[in-house]
Amino acid sequence: MKIGIISLGCSKNLVDTENLLGLLISNDQEIVTDYNDAEAIIINTCGFIEPAKVEAINTILEMSYYKKDKCKYLIVMGCLAQRYQKELTEEMPEVDRFIGLYEYNNLGTILTDILKVKISNTYGKNTRVLSGKPWMAYLRIADGCDNRCSYCAIPLIRGKYVSTPLEDLIKEAKQLAKNGVKELNIIAQDTTRYGLDLYNERKLLELLQELNQIEELHWIRVLYMYPDEIDDSLIEGMSKLDKVLPYFDIPVQYGNDKLLQLMNRRGNVNSIVNITTKIRETFINSVLRTTIIVGFPNETENDFKETLEFIERVKWDKLGAFIYSKEEDTLAYDMDNEVEDYLKVDRLNRLMDLQESISKEKNKLYINNTLEVLVESYDALTQSYRGRSFLNAPDGIDGEVWIYTSESLKFGEFVQVKITKVKNHDLLGEYRGRI
Ligand code: SF4
Repeated sequence: MKIGIISLGCSKNLVDTENLLGLLISNDQEIVTDYNDAEAIIINTCGFIEPAKVEAINTILEMSYYKKDKCKYLIVMGCLAQRYQKELTEEMPEVDRFIGLYEYNNLGTILTDILKVKISNTYGKNTRVLSGKPWMAYLRIADGCDNRCSYCAIPLIRGKYVSTPLEDLIKEAKQLAKNGVKELNIIAQDTTRYGLDLYNERKLLELLQELNQIEELHWIRVLYMYPDEIDDSLIEGMSKLDKVLPYFDIPVQYGNDKLLQLMNRRGNVNSIVNITTKIRETFINSVLRTTIIVGFPNETENDFKETLEFIERVKWDKLGAFIYSKEEDTLAYDMDNEVEDYLKVDRLNRLMDLQESISKEKNKLYINNTLEVLVESYDALTQSYRGRSFLNAPDGIDGEVWIYTSESLKFGEFVQVKITKVKNHDLLGEYRGRI
């Protein structure tokens, strides 16, 4: 059967989509990219915050038009399906089946019933089929979350934190590396907690030590670290591993103690500053990335100003910010003193303006430095290759490196680039040879 797949949401959800692709392909189904050709369309959704839900619903509505033609089945899975399965089943009859996250063990049987083609119950056991660039993969080391941040619906949707056994992860990473992956991005809702549920102790460092030995891998990057779980031994241990990038993605969410408490986050501003200081003392070239939520209930102008001061103080290399989204069934849902919409937008803009100036100054420090860059594409308009250095996580969140050269470069290869200029979040430079 010809099946079209749409993946929405975060990298954690993308891993599920790639497992689905593995399942379908190993069961001789054909994946098509033109939905006009599809006999079935499967949408893997996100249901984390309001904009993600709106995007998912709009995508379902858009895809339901194809059912008037060749497409016979429309199936929706993922976080939105998990969170609102009952309501959506009643309200969207154009969808043949909403499949919740806890039904994936049975996914083969469910798809066989709907699509009338034989699909085995081997979801997660087939080789994952990467949907993006073949030299980069995410390694999801756990699912669910045991933290109870008061604004977050993830634990309600994905359940308790469940680590994947270490030996399974090493096996998966080796397989990915054998298939051409050079950059591995370690993900989970909280990567620093890895192992606690399975082994009674945190095992992120041990996992990184093992991954560091996989010959074909060149870069290993850790994303989504919880600040109070980053201790000296993890920082020092990471500094000894040559493939592990000095990139620390630590979503702290706010920069004022009152709000951190209301958000039910562990730690405080001082403890966060201490961690960032320790990281910068240990690595000469660390990259610190964070995420901030603005407009959380009870946020005052003073709290926000303190957060700006905190950002100014730490000078995060990279920062993403979001407007608070009120989610039902979360602890924050019933909180009083909501922030008015115009203030939320104003604060988001002020925050991003500040970060833009910090990022620009930070980027300028790389002028005249030569960086190792992974070549990923070519932009005909500017006649430059585009790639990423250790400073840039995938998916465009940290900008890119533009590479100018008269030579022909291969996508997926590592090259040396001498940085000559800064353009917004991007670095521009000249090719200096292969690695
Ligand atoms: S750490 Fe907090 S924000 Fe992140 S997934 Fe868990 S509960 Fe949500």
